[in-house]
Amino acid sequence: MKDPVLEIRDLNVDYGLGDQAVHAVRDVSLTLHRGEVLGLAGESGSGKSTLAYGLTRLLPPPGVIRGGQVIYHPAAGPAYDVMALSHAELRAFRWAETSIVFQGAMNSLNPVYKVSTQLLDVIRAHEPRMPASARLARARELLRLVGIAADRMDSYPHQLSGGMRQRVMIGMALALEPQIVIMDEPTTALDVVMQRQILRQLIELRERLGFSVLFITHDLSLLVEFSDRIAIMYGGRIVEEAPAPALYRDSLHPYSDGLLHSFPALRGERRELTGIPGSPPDLRNMPTGCSFHPRCSKAFEPCPDRVPVLGHPRTPDGRTRTVACWLHPATG
Ligand code: ATP
Ligand code: SF4
Repeated sequence: MKDPVLEIRDLNVDYGLGDQAVHAVRDVSLTLHRGEVLGLAGESGSGKSTLAYGLTRLLPPPGVIRGGQVIYHPAAGPAYDVMALSHAELRAFRWAETSIVFQGAMNSLNPVYKVSTQLLDVIRAHEPRMPASARLARARELLRLVGIAADRMDSYPHQLSGGMRQRVMIGMALALEPQIVIMDEPTTALDVVMQRQILRQLIELRERLGFSVLFITHDLSLLVEFSDRIAIMYGGRIVEEAPAPALYRDSLHPYSDGLLHSFPALRGERRELTGIPGSPPDLRNMPTGCSFHPRCSKAFEPCPDRVPVLGHPRTPDGRTRTVACWLHPATG
């Protein structure tokens, strides 16, 4: 296993305070390794975006971090807790160490400025001493990296297609050569062909530049294709985590299984599309015990009463897996 670049430890995030608080992220621990693509999947409302906003401390009010640590391991120098950074340190951490492409980011380009101006602004803000000619060369290089010809530098966002705008956003995210790129539903607004083209290009860039990616989407089929490992989130908790091929071949948590049976098989035998009955839980009023139990066809005696914690059971073939389900109690 490669070195960790980001370790999320027992992160808890609420919206609001007191009895009315929504516990959107609960006791989440997750490690992103250097150079890997870690996928995070779950239905709408499972807490994926809140986790991304929480770990970068970009939570909008009434979001509050109730506890936990996010340990960042820079390429050089000692590790530190992002939760303990000052505002000035945080500003340097974002973009330079970790950059984020959020949902609908392609619409967040400023319509009144040329693409070149917006790219150069990002570089100037963080590298004020870089000569103007070097900044320009860097901006051209970034666009080339994401497959946009340099002669589009002087286009306004409305003169570019949705796919091109999204590529520009990815170029901006890579501007300061961050160690981590967080992508929250980066391609949801694009057609499937364009989605895959952009993601393929991102993976190629990752191989060349060596950054790590936390890739968040409700579309598990994309993760199976593009990530190294996948974590599944339900009701604010991680319920299973596994290498992408193992999860696809042999998921252990009934919720992961339901998600996998919600899209057609990419290859091999056809899967029956069964979906998941019912709807995601109301985070203000979570079911007792395993929060998935009202929807789970395999629920049994302990499920309504006892919360299963993420454990590491061994499978009959001797492998260790990571899952929170009473069907797979941790051994030893
Ligand atoms: P989606 O894929 O739809 O973005 P998600 O898995 O990213 O879903 P979040 O957006 O993180 O989920 O939301 C998690 C929970 O937090 C949801 O139940 C949502 O209702 C709640 N939530 C999100 N933002 C707020 C807010 N500003 N105030 C109160 N509750 C919120
Ligand atoms: Fe289903 Fe029980 Fe496992 Fe929850 S703990 S997923 S209810 S079998």
